[in-house]
Amino acid sequence: MEQIQGILPTFKNVTTTVKLKGKDVKIHGLCTGCVAVKTNFKKKKGIGELAKLNILLDKNYTNYLPIWVWVIEHPDGLIVIDTGENAQVADLDKYLEKESWFLRFQFKNAAKFQIQEKQELNHQFSSVNLSIDDVKLVVLTHLHLDHTDGLKFFPKQEIIVGDLEYKRADSNMPSTYPKRFKPNKVTYQNDKIEIFNKAYPITSNEDLLYIPTPGHTIGHSSILFKTDNFDIIFSGDSSYSQEQVLMNELAGVNADYKLTAKTYQNIVDYCRLRKTIYLPTHDENAGQRLLNNTFLS
Ligand SMILES: [Zn+2]
Repeated sequence: MEQIQGILPTFKNVTTTVKLKGKDVKIHGLCTGCVAVKTNFKKKKGIGELAKLNILLDKNYTNYLPIWVWVIEHPDGLIVIDTGENAQVADLDKYLEKESWFLRFQFKNAAKFQIQEKQELNHQFSSVNLSIDDVKLVVLTHLHLDHTDGLKFFPKQEIIVGDLEYKRADSNMPSTYPKRFKPNKVTYQNDKIEIFNKAYPITSNEDLLYIPTPGHTIGHSSILFKTDNFDIIFSGDSSYSQEQVLMNELAGVNADYKLTAKTYQNIVDYCRLRKTIYLPTHDENAGQRLLNNTFLS
């Protein structure tokens, strides 16, 4: 019998205010349900392909972890970072029926979701008095379904994804994308930021940068927000928690473990250079760190 540790937690939405050129800018963390993964999925056990086999053999799951979506009330317009999950994922056999048998098997043996319809992004927007129709831009860190399953709410908005992520997506589920999924595939420009070097400027003032944080997928990116007083990295699945980066603990699931190790080093080096709040999508403490301005150090 597979064991899920602990009871189902509730992750409350959070709202904070930062300064941008002296003006207030609100940031919201919205939790679109929870996911539990095999312990060997979150923390690598074994070398090479053995690490992936050990995920399937593992009978233990982590605690339920949040699936955060970040919303910035930026002067350029309302910007959403990743789009979270939707309730259809509860029935994985049906939801993934158009995907390959092997992918479905792997997925069903790695993750369990808990999402109710009222936790989907449209309801979460209402809970912070925003309208999802007012969103101007959606930025995706990568194309895994717990980051793309809210795309159905954005039929007309511009959607940004890395060109490399789009070309070399790994373990993505294209059958779950909306029918007219035509993202703007962006490439990084050189000499835009310390440590990471390359970045794609998302906003006109270049205060929001799309930066390379590969490893989890080959083309994975994070979003760096340079506010007046500190920086914030919305880091997708670069790691599953801040602790993992600090302890140099690799996840079991990685397209390239060496790239992830280098990404961890870049994150630590950048956070030494600048006061930075580091926010992975599935970090239980990310909401609190955003609220309390807790920097990675
Ligand atoms: Zn992922």
